[in-house]
Amino acid sequence: MYCPKCRAEYREGFLECSDCDVDLVEKLEPLPKMPGFVKMATIFREGNIAVIKASFDKTDIEYYFDGEQSHRLAPVPLEARLMVREDFKKEAESILRDLELL
Ligand SMILES: [Zn+2]
Repeated sequence: MYCPKCRAEYREGFLECSDCDVDLVEKLEPLPKMPGFVKMATIFREGNIAVIKASFDKTDIEYYFDGEQSHRLAPVPLEARLMVREDFKKEAESILRDLELL
């Protein structure tokens, strides 16, 4: 079950989101695609997300993580897609290579 507002995932048995006070739904609508952004990598570890953020925030790269908050209830492994604006793809790629995440 998912919260349609904050997109948190809940286990079976939960009916409403404790943060947003809205009814959970069976399935989330896919996020509207950000135009001009491409998927660079799928990241499975929170530590790696922090590393990427630290590196990318020093640059002008425009990016976001898709799905970052969708697994609030561990032990579901985190899975986030790193989306980067197309113009920054090359720059992002070389940073990810340096970090050995690509
Ligand atoms: Zn919520």
